[in-house]
Amino acid sequence: MLKLENVSKVYRVGAFGGKALFAVNNVSFEVKQGEVVSLIGESGSGKSTIGKMILRLLDVTAGKITYNGTDISSLEGNALKDYYRQVQGVFQDPFSSYNPIFKADRIFKVLHEEFFPEVPATEWQKRVEHALSSVGLNPAHVLNKYPHQLSGGQLQRFLIARALLLDIQFLVADEIISMLDASTRIDVLNLLADLKSRGLSILFITHDLSLAYYISERAVILYKGYVVEQGAVEKIFHTPLHPYTRMLMDSVPRMDRKWEKGISLLERQVEEFRNGCPYFERCPVAEKICAVYRPPLFDVEPDHAVACVHYQSPSDVPKPVALPHQSVHPTHSA
Ligand code: ADP
Ligand code: MG
Repeated sequence: MLKLENVSKVYRVGAFGGKALFAVNNVSFEVKQGEVVSLIGESGSGKSTIGKMILRLLDVTAGKITYNGTDISSLEGNALKDYYRQVQGVFQDPFSSYNPIFKADRIFKVLHEEFFPEVPATEWQKRVEHALSSVGLNPAHVLNKYPHQLSGGQLQRFLIARALLLDIQFLVADEIISMLDASTRIDVLNLLADLKSRGLSILFITHDLSLAYYISERAVILYKGYVVEQGAVEKIFHTPLHPYTRMLMDSVPRMDRKWEKGISLLERQVEEFRNGCPYFERCPVAEKICAVYRPPLFDVEPDHAVACVHYQSPSDVPKPVALPHQSVHPTHSA
């Protein structure tokens, strides 16, 4: 249904955009009809960038995203509108997805005018009320409110209702649960499970492993914009292979923290280790070769792939030809 093939995104940063920030590197995965795929990684790993490229809010620098076989970068006019009827996003901070000077009714009015001008007003009103009820909101309570008068949980459900009105087939859910309090979390989670059972596909973006395990059948683990491991959730969670995935499993409560002190993640992503393994510096089991050689993602069993030399057959791993400039012993600051 939705497929990423060797997708990369390079941001121009620094004075006059003179530096390149490699936010997403050669990422490939597919989300099939009715499937939930989790995209997992700590803050800054490129998750939202991928979500935004899928939603055409950003162009890809290289590679291709296809929806039912069509390259989405080629969509224009009615075809693009049709795409947005089917593919929608709900973001982490629901307040930022809104123009706060508009009341909730106005959001639906715009939707009506833009996507369904042929639907009579009374029929549209019915649809709006139905969509709101199906996400557990009382239309009378939310429609005449400004966004800041709704709670975070109400707002996210509101945005999902908005997406539902568009007959969506594919939802990009970017950290939508993490920000909510415990009681609303369950509601939104159940709502997503319900959408899934109705055949909707979801890209579930999160740094929370337990949520990913709960909701998805496949997972993609991202580190500095590289996929380090991907496959069936059962396999990844029961037999995590990549040292990064293992570290994530061991540190669930502190996942969203940055470990590296001193040098920002951004600086590193800009300049260093463009040839070696992206996880080299933090890896407790790194070898010399990891500083200069970036292993490809390869299958270790059906529906389970990893990018780490430790699982590659030794004959496939090149011998280090020259010593790297950097120390081969990774420094740990955590
Ligand atoms: P995540 O959602 O996993 O936290 P993002 O996709 O937001 O990650 O960011 C990935 C990297 O790209 C980060 O280093 C971030 O600072 C950088 N980045 C994100 N958006 C921009 C932008 N518009 N311009 C420059 N750099 C950006
Ligand atoms: Mg993000």
